[in-house]
Amino acid sequence: MFDLFPPQAGVHRMPPAAEARSERREPRVEPRAVPRAGEIVFERSSRARNYRLTLRRDGTAVATIPLRGSEREALRFVEQHREWLERARERQKRRPRAAEVWTVGTHVLWRGELTEIRVASAPAELATLPLPEAFGAAPAPAKPQVCLAADVFRVPRFDGDLRPTLEAHFLRRAKIELPARTWELAAVTGVEVKQVTVRNQRSRWGSCSANGTISLNWRLVQTPEFVRDYIIHHELMHLREMNHSDRFWARVEEVCPGWREAEAWIKRNGALVGL
Ligand SMILES: [Zn+2]
Repeated sequence: MFDLFPPQAGVHRMPPAAEARSERREPRVEPRAVPRAGEIVFERSSRARNYRLTLRRDGTAVATIPLRGSEREALRFVEQHREWLERARERQKRRPRAAEVWTVGTHVLWRGELTEIRVASAPAELATLPLPEAFGAAPAPAKPQVCLAADVFRVPRFDGDLRPTLEAHFLRRAKIELPARTWELAAVTGVEVKQVTVRNQRSRWGSCSANGTISLNWRLVQTPEFVRDYIIHHELMHLREMNHSDRFWARVEEVCPGWREAEAWIKRNGALVGL
């Protein structure tokens, strides 16, 4: 978390695991599975100086071949590091992960809790069924809805992947809630903010620029409030100290004494927001 970043821009990076994503964009050399080796993909990289073995979130092991390297050498390298790979796979299994596809019954992180997606209203075709007296005379809403704890969201239908729809809802909520909270905390801490934007950052929780713009990841509506507030405080304090110096952390400590717990939460649960 204690990243290096250019002096002009305060950047709060995700835990290192999230960085693996960027490697997916590297040019690939005929990805193929190797018998016995499990799912191993070979990738040639002009930037790599050595053979490298990494385990992606999806469980795929990636063997990176340096510019002048060969697949045969890479395979030998994989063989030498088989034990490491197995341990890494075990660790990965134990880590809490976000479900890829969201359906009714899936638990997703919402407001800091793993919350089950539940049906909030009857599907249209069931609405015509006679209901017992106790249910009252109110007709069921025509549009299907799901709920996460007390929050209700419309969905086009109950079957299929609900994730794109729900994430779009989360983004809309974030665009209302996160700037509001930022302005609030800016007022409390006396930091001058010019603009707050909410974005779909793939590897950052937040960032800020010297001109006073703070950008926040919409996924902060999924995290607990103390984590959301910490990230906002972190970026606010960057507007005073554009670095991660002791002075910066002293400022964070002053306005957000619980920041260490928030960092620990992020480290443990970052993967639950699918990053
Ligand atoms: Zn930072």
